[in-house]
Order: sequence, then structure tokens, then C-alpha cells
Amino acid sequence: MKYVIALDAGTTSVRAFVYDISTGKFVHGAQQEVAQRFPNPGWVEQDANEIYYKTAYCLNECVRYAGAENVAGIGVTNQRETVVLWNRETGEPLCPAIVWQCRRTSAYCAGLSKDAQTLVRTRTGLVADAYFSASKIRWALDNMPAARKLLQAGKLCVGTVDTYLIFKLTAGRTFATDYTNASRTMLFDIRELRWDTDLLNLFGVPREILPETRPCDARFGEAELAGRRIPIAGVLGDQQAALFGQGCLSPGEGKITYGTGLFLLFNTGSACALSQSGMLTTVGYSCGGNTVYALEGSAFNAGSSVQWLRDGLGLIDASAESEGLAASVPDCGGVCFVPAFTGLGAPYWNGEARGLLSGITRSTTRAHVVRAVLESIAYGARDLAGCMERDSGICLRDIRCDGGACRNDFLMQFQADVLGVCIDRPVEKESTALGAALMCGVALGLCDESDIPKRREAERIFVPSKQREKFDALYENYKKAVKRALL
Ligand code: ADP
Repeated sequence: MKYVIALDAGTTSVRAFVYDISTGKFVHGAQQEVAQRFPNPGWVEQDANEIYYKTAYCLNECVRYAGAENVAGIGVTNQRETVVLWNRETGEPLCPAIVWQCRRTSAYCAGLSKDAQTLVRTRTGLVADAYFSASKIRWALDNMPAARKLLQAGKLCVGTVDTYLIFKLTAGRTFATDYTNASRTMLFDIRELRWDTDLLNLFGVPREILPETRPCDARFGEAELAGRRIPIAGVLGDQQAALFGQGCLSPGEGKITYGTGLFLLFNTGSACALSQSGMLTTVGYSCGGNTVYALEGSAFNAGSSVQWLRDGLGLIDASAESEGLAASVPDCGGVCFVPAFTGLGAPYWNGEARGLLSGITRSTTRAHVVRAVLESIAYGARDLAGCMERDSGICLRDIRCDGGACRNDFLMQFQADVLGVCIDRPVEKESTALGAALMCGVALGLCDESDIPKRREAERIFVPSKQREKFDALYENYKKAVKRALL
């Protein structure tokens, strides 16, 4: 059996990939888009049934391609925090899945007492926010009569997307999640690695409706596919899977995913450090009996700024065009962009800030504007990296990149220059799915955790310029623009 399948149940699509586990090479993939609904301002929902049917379709497609007898197991990675409620007897969802982006509980979270916020911060490493699962579960229990009825009948199940899909794939035999997904619920003690009674009481969530929690390299039952039972082994949330897939297994190693937004995760080893600058502390992964923690920081806008250049301003026809345009000018000609479309996250945490384009003169061209937008993505990452280093006392050595916008050579070189560290771009850019496949390999004893960093192949390493002062000055200039955006 030479293949493992990685299931990546993301926000915009569900995908399954076949990997040859001996080489870690991608062999085949299947993908299905998943619809999102926005029934009220700030609300985001998905249909859990649709996620499951599309998952089954992609998995069957991959199993057929590889041959069921050749598939050793399935690893699972998923959009985190999203909440599904379902009937334990029938597996039917009770209501739409409440997606991580959904803000319906933001007033509830803002109304939590100082003590409650401190409890959340110290036990879970998160900040009390509508982003995480707990308040979404509370909302469903308060507003969905069907949920209350099932709760009274002892038939209610609640979980994140991984848990729901595993429950369905195993015909209800496994009701479990892994520590990384649990660590995003706001109900999980990340040091003790168990549901926390005080937090369960705070949010009014009964323990019995939640799944069992297991390490990432545990077994999660067997999926029935193409007439065969295939083990599900290896489960972790998408950003953690990318960290693992990139081989960031030592303290100080980190990765940046450049997608719609930007996610920096930084391995802090066995140290569960709490951030002083608004970063999150989270379970990085847990396997071989060890739990590794990570600091996580995100910028709301990265690739989305490039989309804005394309769709909002019409300055470019395709995202990839931004690279040539930015490189066609030696600098931004004094133009500076702050991507505060929806406020600014860490370390500024200002929801009122709005985007800013400054320094425009009659000689400003679209190339300058495009370049300023790409540069702003790199400055945002430097903001996060600075916080990470201060919080952990660990110096970032090099950073691995993935996500759609990591294909932009100009951006990656500029990022290396602004951070003053090497940016290492892998051959295999689907780090999230690869991480799930490798965790599956570890769980089944087909590969060794210590071999993972050796397997990773760099496609290109962007080495920082020696002109540190020049790039420090550019960053200081960006920070001045941020101050104006905050006014
Ligand atoms: P997500 O997983 O968040 O949907 P992806 O990792 O698929 O995102 O990346 C898509 C994002 O990357 C889009 O916002 C797009 O504008 C941006 N992007 C893709 N290619 C490039 C490029 N060559 N240069 C700059 N941005 C790009």
C-alpha cells in the first residue's frame, strides 16, 4: 500500500489528494467548490450536508484513481472553528454550519466580563472572540429549538468540520476531534489537553455533546469507500497542517501562508508561551506523545489587497500581473499603502482604521500603486514577526512560505529583504494537504516524524539584501502611514 489520501476540507472548497507516501509526492487530486451563504450582515453559513457529499465525492474519486487496495489511510485537515450540530442517531445536521468568519456572536463576546476574558486567555491561549467556536455553540443552543430538543433527548452532537466528516465517514462509529481543532474552540485547556470545566460552564456547553479529543497521530476509525474499510489516521487544523507539512518541527521555525489573508505560525516547541502583543497561542501538533505549541498571528488582508487591485480598481487583469508591474519600477515613488479595509489586526487591533494610499504625486503610475500594495503585505508580516520574536524570545531563523500569493517572486524577495531572513519556497506548495498526508503516514508508522524536514524540497530560497538600513527605513515609513490610518 503505497498511497495515503489527504482530505482538505477548506472554506472555499473541499479537496482530496493522493500522495505516494514513500516519496511524499503528489499523484492525483479532486476538488469541489463549497457554497457560502450570508443571510444577515456579518453572518456566514455553509451547508454541512454539502460539505459531506462533496467530501465523499472527492475521496471516492481519489480512491478509484489509486485503487482501494493501494490506499493505506486517510489524513484529515480542515477549516478551523466552524461549528456543526447534528443528530447522533441519523447524522443529519440540525442547522447550517456557523462558519469561522461569522460575526453573529460578536456582541455576546464583547459583553463577557474581564474575568471571563482572562479565563479564556489563560486556559486556551486565544482571545475571547466570535471567531472561535464556543460562542457559536452557545448561540445555536439558545436559538435552535431543535438543538435543545435533541440535547434533552441525549442525541445532540456538536463539533468542528473534521469531527462531523469523520462521524459521517465512519457511519457514526467515531465521534472525536484532535487537539489542534479542539484548541480553537475556546473550551479546551491547551496545557492539560482536555475540555475545561470552567469554560464549559462559562459558555453553558454540556460536556456530553462534545467529541472525545485525541492526539493528531491517533486513529479515528475506518471510512467505508469503494467497498473497503480505509483507516482514518492523522487529523489537524489547516494552519497547523501547513506548519507540519512545511517541516517546521523545531522551535524558531515558522511559515507564512499568503492566501486571502496572511497566517504566520511559529513553532515554540514545548513552551506554551502567552503573547503580550495579541498573538494567539495554539497547539501546533501533537504526535509521538509530544505536544508542540505555536504562536499564531494573522493579517486580515493579503491576497485580498491584490484582488482589490484587480476587481476594485481594475489596475490589473490577473493577480499574477502584479509581479511584473511592481518590478518595473525601482521603488514605490513615495507611495505607501495600508491595507486596513476592515480595520487592522495585531499588533494594532483597531477595527475603526481604514485603508490608506499616501504620497501620491503627478508622477505616480499604476506600477507604483501595485508595488505599494505588494510591499504592504510584506510589512504586515514584519509586524507579526516582530511580535512573535518579542513574545517568545526566539529569533526567527528562516521562514517557509505557501499559499496562492507565494508564487509572486517580487513579493517573496521583498519579504526576505524586509524581514532580514531567508524566505524558503517549497516545490510542494500544497503544504496543508501534505501536512495531513504526512501526519497520516506518521500515525500509520509509514514515515517517521524526524524524516519530515529532510523530505521537504526547496524550490527557491529568497536571500535578504545586505542593505538592512534601507529596508528598515522603508518599514518605519510604513509604520508612519499606519499611524495616519489609525487617526
Ligand atoms: P485562500 O486559500 O485564502 O482561498 P489561496 O492560497 O488560494 O487563498 O490564494 C489566493 C490569493 O492569492 C488571492 O487573494 C490572490 O489574489 C492571491 N494571488 C494568487 N496569485 C498571486 C500572485 N502571483 N501574486 C499576488 N497575489 C496572488
